[in-house]
Amino acid sequence: MSVVPAVHVIGGSRVEAIDPDGTFANVNPATGEVLAQVPLDGAAAVDAAVKAAVDAFPAWSQTPVGERCQVLFTYKQVLEDHFDELTNLIVTEHGKNVPEARGDVRRGIDCIEYACGAPSLLMGRTLPRIAVSSSFSRESDENIPLDSTMERLPLGVCAGITPFNFPIMVPMWMWPMAIACGNTFVLKPSEKVSLCAVREVELASEAGLPDGVLNLVLGGVEASTALITHPDVKAVSFVGSTPVAKKVYATATAAGKRAQCMGGAKNCMLIMPDANREAAIDGVLSSSFGNTGQRCLAGSVAIPVGDAAEWFVPAIVEAAKKITTASGSDANCGMGPLIDAASCERVISAIAAGIEDGADLLLDGRDATMPKGNCFVGPTVFDGVTPGMSIAEDEIFGPVLSIMRRDTLEDAIEVTKQSPFGNMAVMFTSSGYAANKFRMEAGAGMIGINVGVPAPMAVFPFSGWKDSFFGTLHANGEDSVRFFTECRILVSRWF
Ligand code: NAD
Repeated sequence: MSVVPAVHVIGGSRVEAIDPDGTFANVNPATGEVLAQVPLDGAAAVDAAVKAAVDAFPAWSQTPVGERCQVLFTYKQVLEDHFDELTNLIVTEHGKNVPEARGDVRRGIDCIEYACGAPSLLMGRTLPRIAVSSSFSRESDENIPLDSTMERLPLGVCAGITPFNFPIMVPMWMWPMAIACGNTFVLKPSEKVSLCAVREVELASEAGLPDGVLNLVLGGVEASTALITHPDVKAVSFVGSTPVAKKVYATATAAGKRAQCMGGAKNCMLIMPDANREAAIDGVLSSSFGNTGQRCLAGSVAIPVGDAAEWFVPAIVEAAKKITTASGSDANCGMGPLIDAASCERVISAIAAGIEDGADLLLDGRDATMPKGNCFVGPTVFDGVTPGMSIAEDEIFGPVLSIMRRDTLEDAIEVTKQSPFGNMAVMFTSSGYAANKFRMEAGAGMIGINVGVPAPMAVFPFSGWKDSFFGTLHANGEDSVRFFTECRILVSRWF
């Protein structure tokens, strides 16, 4: 793949960088090959994209919702036709292995399918005869009813800022429902996976989306900041790390916009002594090391309860050793590289901090046999982790599993409650009582029972809690319909 100049997509056209503050080199993390020079554009490019979205809004918002959805039905088929192309682009630009990359595209398509239901989802409500009033006519003593109706209307221009870890799916948490509701949109994807985002947006044009309805600006912090403070942007949807999510939420809401900001995570997995052992090992393995630990639903702290540690700890280390760390394009790849060299350094520092804090390093991913010289760290397992250690508390976003042994179910649940994060928590057990207690008391918004990655389908909201989410209405599900619309109430009577 030769180096391509990455371009914005504004008003349906490819637009060269306008006033960039340098470029960001997009690198294949498995090979180190530079794929693209991404312009770090700022306010001028954002302004052009928002203007295109403002211009497109009157016609698009007046287009009947059924017609808007026909474009999304076509887009779904276009994505199916380009499934392999998008998969390969993810493998090259992000580093996932092929099954994970296919999952990224498939889960994105799920969001399109859900947005295709906008005609039902946007229906308002009517309550006839909310009151009666007497007729103004002296001759009549008839009671005149008052009826009331609620309608859902688009907001205007909405904006989305996305992370690197699901390059195709996460943007589709945002713009398909936003435009199905009649809004127009500006996407600022992660600079690390710009090529995937540009292709996703270009394919929407190929599906017949009118110019300016969906626009894309390439850039980093400057572009994000210009977007979330732009006077013509009504709503901001953000997915990324917690410090940035918190900042974006504060800035966007202070600028008078509605905002939903999904943040980072530190997810716990409880393993009860009565768990189905194979299912628990398999579930923890795929949760911790799938996507190289770069998921906001990645299990990061395993908590064997009571004597579960006796079988769980040796088995998880043996299973992790068998994962083949390789380029995502290798047919035998179990785990691909991290996204970039900076992530590698962060993960290696986290491992060093775990050793320094006195945790017991059972499997060292720094030593694993794997391709050298690029962004690879192998599966890593620590035992003897205790609250307060950085590997117990901080999001690592890499293939590092911390085992924290607890004596009782109550002690284990307490760990999830104490965490400032609240994205997900899972339990492996064969006890309905334990599962129910866990579900009711664990401090997280997405709960898995005998499931390592409890990812909600697009029809449900992505329900992180605490420092994993800032806002009221989550991405996806009916929350997203409410987020991307405002209500109008009509109260009427007729004489
Ligand atoms: P990140 O926070 O570094 O970047 C996310 C986006 O914000 C990018 O587009 C980036 O250009 C932009 N950005 C970075 N710094 C900014 C700033 N100071 N002001 C404004 N914009 C800024 O996140 P990342 O490394 O791309 O993604 C990984 C993080 O995303 C992890 O913490 C992961 O848990 C989280 N994540 C959360 C969810 C969720 O639903 N909760 C889903 C996926 C990823």
